[in-house]
Amino acid sequence: MQLYNTLSAKERAQLIDQAGKNRLTLSFYQYANIENPQILRDHLFITWNHLDVLGRIYVAHEGINAQLSLPADRFNEFKEHLDSISFLQGIRLNIAIEQDNKSFLKLKIKVRDKIVADGLNDDTFDVTNKGIHLGAEQFNVLIEDQKTVLVDMRNHYESEIGHFKNAITPDVDTFRDSLDIIEADLKDHKEDKNLVMYCTGGIRCEKASAYFKHKGFKNVYQLEGGIIEYTRQVKEKNLENKFLGQNFVFDDRRAERISEDVIAQCHQCGAPFDVHTNCANDACHLLFIQCDACKEEMDNCCSTTCKEIHALPYEEQKALRKGQGNSNDIFKKGRADHLSYKKDLRNIFETLKLNKKE
Ligand SMILES: [Zn+2]
Ligand SMILES: [Zn+2]
Repeated sequence: MQLYNTLSAKERAQLIDQAGKNRLTLSFYQYANIENPQILRDHLFITWNHLDVLGRIYVAHEGINAQLSLPADRFNEFKEHLDSISFLQGIRLNIAIEQDNKSFLKLKIKVRDKIVADGLNDDTFDVTNKGIHLGAEQFNVLIEDQKTVLVDMRNHYESEIGHFKNAITPDVDTFRDSLDIIEADLKDHKEDKNLVMYCTGGIRCEKASAYFKHKGFKNVYQLEGGIIEYTRQVKEKNLENKFLGQNFVFDDRRAERISEDVIAQCHQCGAPFDVHTNCANDACHLLFIQCDACKEEMDNCCSTTCKEIHALPYEEQKALRKGQGNSNDIFKKGRADHLSYKKDLRNIFETLKLNKKE
């Protein structure tokens, strides 16, 4: 019985081309009490591999978090299978706005301690005691309220290319950091403000809202289904779209354009631009924003050092890397001192003031 992915990304890409079928990219999550994540994991792998599902799925005692793609014509079978699992019955699926047949090239289902790396080692609060869920229409109304503080729960490199009008976008690398910053900065407003949160697909807010309620915030709200579901509802119900720019996503598409606004800048020359790239020097691989002109001039590299290394024959590059561990920059998504145009928003209240002035 096959329980793990066996094809390389390249082989898979060829198969997808040969099949010539449209694929759907979608995501969903559910907090639930899963007794034996390994058994569920194997069951999902066998069934989904058979349905030609590809993607990245985490299963834990606390639930499941799935981002995947599948052939559009197998969607009904897939949905039926989800409905056969009690805690996934009728679950809302976030269907991607921009489709790409190669959003995922492997099926990876992993058993993890948690379904989101939230850095929260706090079992004292009840994850199911979450904030009030808002649909797009209610969300649009509430974020115009004077008493509302709207917070983007994502990381700096995500909110940099797109966020809601007037949102506070904490300059953080991790979810854990943003919880602390928000709590500290709003400590005097736990009762008189509406704390409204959003993230990509809703999962981070699920936990954050429970956390803030546990910390004494009285009016906690979250955008149900995140930016993805918001955009779907805006289109379906013809509502005003209040999201500017691109929605960062965690697959090979990298982002979905939600509005035509370009709110970010090339990290190298400062020109308006909002498409991420990875530094072409494999030893660096830094995720950053680079415009087309800089890409050409810098050979898709983040610095002159990387450009020089990238230009060396492969064997020499390998020899240089020997014994040097990977560069830290790999994990510092979009942060490096030589990228002078990276937006740096340290203080959330300064951001708030800036936003209110507009
Ligand atoms: Zn540039
Ligand atoms: Zn680099």
